[in-house]
Amino acid sequence: MVGKGRGAVGQRELRIIHGRQDAPIPPPLTAADLPIGPLAGLELPLWRSPSGKAEHASAQCPHLSRGTPRQTRTIVLPTSGTLADLPAIPRCRSCPDPLPAYHQQATRLLYDAEELAKTATTLRNGYHLAAYGELLQAAQNDSLDTHQVREIDRLLQPALQRLRHERQRLVRQHRSAYSNDKARRDLKTITAAALLKADVDRRQPGRLRAELLDLSTSLVAEPPPDARTPIGDRELLELSDAWIAPISERYSNSAGLAELDTAKERLREGLSRLLTTRDPRAGRRDPPPDVDRLTTLLHVAWVGMLAGMVAEGSTQHVVVAVDPRMVLPLPPWAPTLLLAQYPSATRNVKGQPYRIAIVPKLFADLVTHWDRVALHVIAESTWPDDAAVCHAVLQQVPARAFVGDEPWWQRLRQGQLQRLLNKARGTSPRRLGD
Ligand SMILES: [Zn+2]
Repeated sequence: MVGKGRGAVGQRELRIIHGRQDAPIPPPLTAADLPIGPLAGLELPLWRSPSGKAEHASAQCPHLSRGTPRQTRTIVLPTSGTLADLPAIPRCRSCPDPLPAYHQQATRLLYDAEELAKTATTLRNGYHLAAYGELLQAAQNDSLDTHQVREIDRLLQPALQRLRHERQRLVRQHRSAYSNDKARRDLKTITAAALLKADVDRRQPGRLRAELLDLSTSLVAEPPPDARTPIGDRELLELSDAWIAPISERYSNSAGLAELDTAKERLREGLSRLLTTRDPRAGRRDPPPDVDRLTTLLHVAWVGMLAGMVAEGSTQHVVVAVDPRMVLPLPPWAPTLLLAQYPSATRNVKGQPYRIAIVPKLFADLVTHWDRVALHVIAESTWPDDAAVCHAVLQQVPARAFVGDEPWWQRLRQGQLQRLLNKARGTSPRRLGD
């Protein structure tokens, strides 16, 4: 069982399971897969300035603005074949692309294919929460983004479809590793750190920060023997802020909770700076041995505090309405992963996915620390709630809720969502078949 994997053994099990599912991997999209299309037989005159030697692919290049540019030669593109057959076209960094839009669309496709291949490698090499979250987000955007399909050249459609299928395949291949208990716990820990961070960022630091300070102060009540002065409250707060940052930073959750190591390292650096005294004769800095002891003491205590927040916020689940246009103070991919880990239903209106989901209360707590409201708690969740109930509620919401700029639940009458939920609970297939 993937979900039971823990630590090194768990990682190894995951890789074995993935290895089995890997074969056969479709080859990544390359320029040789894309027909030369409207570029066939095009003649491209090259230019240089009267004084310069460099060739430019467009007479409109800003580097040619002095004097009348002179034409040097003409490149003739092949009349058939693929984009892999294109000759090198000399272009400076400022040259506008002299080729038709087809070329830019193809370049974008190849770039996306390269990025997807990198993601595939990352996921094959082991657990990587952010890489999977970003993949999931991109796959979801695929199904919502009909614009790209309409706009792209007909000749590139098969390649676009291939890219999107590969994305879906990767999502399916790794789904179990990112919806199990470990992945859920990691996402909750990131959320708990974000809660602490939100508390830190407020002008008036809140309850969580006060608790953190109390805990830290009691731990360092004894001044380290080597230090001239005990560590003050202000320094402790700065240390804890530096420690929280890598866990809740939007873009740095690169490997699930590997950043707990980064956090510990930042704490150690901070303590070293604080406790190291400068020898006036030698000017040499010696980190005192107490740095290690205090690093371990504080790190363990703060990890414990995060775990406590996760546990406390997980005992109760809530039914929430989610507006895709609002953001949570989490990494951008995290809400997509969250909604994939718990029961939810989606209603797409004009390319926007409006949702109802059942999530641990911890995620709803995040909203109370944030000005822009991304989640609305409809009710506490009870056992018959599942994706079918979420779906039934969403279907009953009048369409007018989804037309304004404000969060969609604000366009409904007071208590309307709760009434729809009660009704859906009563007619849930699970309840009826019970
Ligand atoms: Zn140029």
